[in-house]
Amino acid sequence: MSEGVSAAAKCKKAGQVRGTRVCTKVGKDLVWVAAPVATTTTTTLAPKGGGSGGAGGSSATTTTVAKSYASLTIGTKYSYTAAAVGQPFYCKALSGAGETKYGDWISGSVWYPARKPYWPSTTKITTGSFSAVVSGSNRILAGNGLPIGLGATVGNYPFNSSNELYSKYDPNSGSLSAYTISKTVPATPTANASPTCLPGGMLGITNTGVAFYGANDAVMRDAAAYEILDSCGGHPVKATGSYHYHSLFLAEYGRAYGNVWSCIDLGSAGAHGNLIGYANDGFGIYGPYGATGALLSTADLDECHGDTHSITWDGATVSLYHYHATADYPYTLSCFRGTPK
Ligand SMILES: [Zn+2]
Ligand SMILES: [Zn+2]
Repeated sequence: MSEGVSAAAKCKKAGQVRGTRVCTKVGKDLVWVAAPVATTTTTTLAPKGGGSGGAGGSSATTTTVAKSYASLTIGTKYSYTAAAVGQPFYCKALSGAGETKYGDWISGSVWYPARKPYWPSTTKITTGSFSAVVSGSNRILAGNGLPIGLGATVGNYPFNSSNELYSKYDPNSGSLSAYTISKTVPATPTANASPTCLPGGMLGITNTGVAFYGANDAVMRDAAAYEILDSCGGHPVKATGSYHYHSLFLAEYGRAYGNVWSCIDLGSAGAHGNLIGYANDGFGIYGPYGATGALLSTADLDECHGDTHSITWDGATVSLYHYHATADYPYTLSCFRGTPK
């Protein structure tokens, strides 16, 4: 069936996606229209209204993005009682402020990463620290919450209050503050039969020193879809200044949606994803490529968003559980397979 050319073809439900088309209300009718396909991006993302961030995201970089990521389904599932694939298992409702306004990057049940505005990452952090050191049977994760390496260039937080990203969408912006990260986790964790629920806040830390949180914002919405983030997909908690990611995929592929650099190295198709950090239970989290090197999505993983197969771990080849970051909700962990510290 050809849906490629006829914009008048009828569809039934706004937001439904078929191939590269999305069901959209045009006048009184619901019709299939082409979703923006982010195969190449030359968008200027400098915020309107006088952001002091300056040049921001003017990019001539050409990056190929899998078409399936031109639009992403907004995550709506979560639970306080049980883990399931694609459904984060929280110990209790998160609390705090969430943005209530959003723009045309959200349409029905999908969001378009390439349409979403990002706060340009123009501020270089030079005081970040992070280490992951094996000591006996433990691994000691230590840092000051500020990013290092690829992650060290962040948004010029707090938002300029005259900028429309602030005035129109997201008054929930703070400044980055250092804080102490100190966790002793098992060097080689054990997988439990029963999953453990997720707290609010940090679920783990990337090896660029950035905490990653769960998929949901403080009002239990899909944070990556709704919250205004920087070009690395990061932002600080307003009250504490704790900088964090929700989607590690955005930290790399944000560049494909207008970012000019990559803030994390997830690896490449054809080989297993790179080790990109550690969860609070000590298991590693890897880029979105599985045992065969194929791009993974949440449906390929278990209820905690991981799998078990042979990996290189501290220089040895072992069969060990680990998490994967994916482009789709819930992005990182949906529960702990080990015992969180
Ligand atoms: Zn957040
Ligand atoms: Zn794997």
